[in-house]
Amino acid sequence: MRKLSMALLAGVALVGCGGPEAAEQQIPTFEEFQAQAIKDEGDVYVVNGDEAVEGVQGLREYYDNFVANGDVGTAEGGLAVYYVSGRDIKWSATAARNITYCVSSSSFGSRYNTVVSAMNSATAAWEATANVNFVHSSSYDSNCTASQSAVVFDVRQVSGAGYVARAFFPNSSRSARNVLIDTSAFGSSGSWTLTGVLRHELGHTLGFRHEHTRSTSSGCYEDNQWRALTSTYDRASVMHYPQCNGTQTGDLVLTSLDKTGARALYP
Ligand SMILES: [Zn+2]
Repeated sequence: MRKLSMALLAGVALVGCGGPEAAEQQIPTFEEFQAQAIKDEGDVYVVNGDEAVEGVQGLREYYDNFVANGDVGTAEGGLAVYYVSGRDIKWSATAARNITYCVSSSSFGSRYNTVVSAMNSATAAWEATANVNFVHSSSYDSNCTASQSAVVFDVRQVSGAGYVARAFFPNSSRSARNVLIDTSAFGSSGSWTLTGVLRHELGHTLGFRHEHTRSTSSGCYEDNQWRALTSTYDRASVMHYPQCNGTQTGDLVLTSLDKTGARALYP
């Protein structure tokens, strides 16, 4: 999830937004695009506010596919799954029932219990509607790193990252499969609770794209690598940035369309 203020400043530059004003925008060179991208720990760049791509090669592919050609989508539809080369980016039915994670006790320190509790609440929201099961493997919390191969993903704290939190998609390699929570998430994030932010991030971990990429009029169109799971575009979706012409003004919660879409992908 991107900071509200960051979105206003960086939204256009980072993701080559669509929308009526997009036609007049200059397409940045790759070097300009790279200079403005968030370089995360390890070999990860963050695009679209809170999504990981791997290495300069991953950033280059993203640029070549979407930014360089000024790609603007045409379809409008609440939930959309990451869709590449004719297939959904999602967990298999078996893997979806055992998505293990650790919560780094050393990085969160005194905030550890707060994060464990928020992760429990956020995972429960998805588990209540889709056939998925997140498992907190707490025995790995004391060694919860990007290279901990005993879990599917790690949850760690970062500081000054340029986002509130960021996640990954099911096709990410282990080293990029992190839910990173910036220290700013523990301050005031407007009406968002930490649990709300994590509900959004966990949507990415299940394969869901930003809902606002379904609309060219959201002002935050990203790219065309998605497949709609419901026929209706949902401006209130948990996966829709409120600042992108969204309608969810309170905390980030799953709407009825989110639930329908999640069940459609994980029946
Ligand atoms: Zn997001």
